[in-house]
Amino acid sequence: MKALVFHSPKHVSVDTVDAPVLLRTTDAIVRVTSTAICGSDLHVYNGLIPQEKPLVLGHEFMGIVEEVGSEVKRLRPGDRVLVPFAIACGSCFFCERDLPGHCERSNPGHYGPEGNVISSKGGGLFGYTDLYGGYAGGQAEMVRVPFADVGPRKVDDDLTDEQVLFLTDILPTGYTAVDWAGMQGGETVAVIGCGPVGIMAMKCAWLRGAARVIGVDREEYRLEKAREIASAETVNVESGVAQEFIRAATGGRGADVCIDAVGMEAHRTPLEKISNMVHGQIGSFVAFKLAVSAVRRGGVVSVVGVYGMPYDNFPLGQLFDKGVTVRFGQAPVHKHVDKLLGWIREGKLRADDVITHRLPLAEAARGYDLFNGKKDGCVKVVLKT
Ligand code: NAD
Ligand code: ZN
Ligand code: ZN
Repeated sequence: MKALVFHSPKHVSVDTVDAPVLLRTTDAIVRVTSTAICGSDLHVYNGLIPQEKPLVLGHEFMGIVEEVGSEVKRLRPGDRVLVPFAIACGSCFFCERDLPGHCERSNPGHYGPEGNVISSKGGGLFGYTDLYGGYAGGQAEMVRVPFADVGPRKVDDDLTDEQVLFLTDILPTGYTAVDWAGMQGGETVAVIGCGPVGIMAMKCAWLRGAARVIGVDREEYRLEKAREIASAETVNVESGVAQEFIRAATGGRGADVCIDAVGMEAHRTPLEKISNMVHGQIGSFVAFKLAVSAVRRGGVVSVVGVYGMPYDNFPLGQLFDKGVTVRFGQAPVHKHVDKLLGWIREGKLRADDVITHRLPLAEAARGYDLFNGKKDGCVKVVLKT
């Protein structure tokens, strides 16, 4: 079969690889119909999350069940399913607590409680390096889906792939960012990063009763997208006045909720790059620092942008002085996916308007180049098999 294979940083190609087979009685094989490229894929693509061996990438995918193991009860061949990005057993300590990204059973090789070393990562993820289980991903014609009764959700035929595909990741991730903030309604929500995840967070903030939504980015075309499809006010971070803009909108106090939807691949100045080298750090946390600066005292900073390293100059004193609550981590997609699917069905929410590029899987490498380089107005790439 054909699949997008990561070989080394910035070197991916669509290759012929072995089709997956059932390895366990609880597995299913899914024939992919649509898949997407996520900002998280870029961390692997750009080498910030290391991967030595070739690996099929991709963790946003949906398709048709081709085959099921003997113990799979909820799915049958022919079912149309979307598949959340985290591989979760459904019954361990963390799965029972709605924390599927921390499943104790899906990453036997590298799982552990520390979380800061190579031998101690979270649960397994599709197509997301050997550190997260080494599972082949969904940017492929076929995928093996472990614990097939737990993650996959059946989708009715009257909803198109594009309407529901982002329920596998970016939509529940955006929702998680606002959910962590415990919004009651009436809040000003500032979203740092107007990529696909930031835009989903903005859409969800409105649905959770936000009074104002402010988007921050450095790419004008992405700010425009946030205005157009998420009704956000926007400010360009390059203006140097993003926090003043947010404070001015909130009586000088700062936003009730700030969401970091950028993560470690924030744009860096040459000086920051030198500082990174001196400190032996990878990437940057300037987006997080802006969120801490722009949030009001007693507010919430929700971090869904991915970070992979310890960083010096963490603003601990500022967080203490302001009494900020910070939430981090992978989105518990399994927890929110059914409610969000309902919202899409009811027409309360749409996510497909973020798509700017539709390519055949055969052109996946070009898709990475466009998305990573922010070329040709690219916000979100969907690959069709
Ligand atoms: P993306 O790369 O398209 O979006 C990032 C956006 O941040 C871009 O629009 C970029 O222009 C902007 N940006 C860069 N530097 C900035 C700065 N200094 N200030 C403001 N904006 C800046 O990716 P995405 O798909 O939207 O994903 C965003 C982040 O969310 C990534 O880190 C991704 O790994 C992460 N993510 C996390 C989860 C989760 O479960 N927590 C799930 C999906 C994605
Ligand atoms: Zn993702
Ligand atoms: Zn589990």
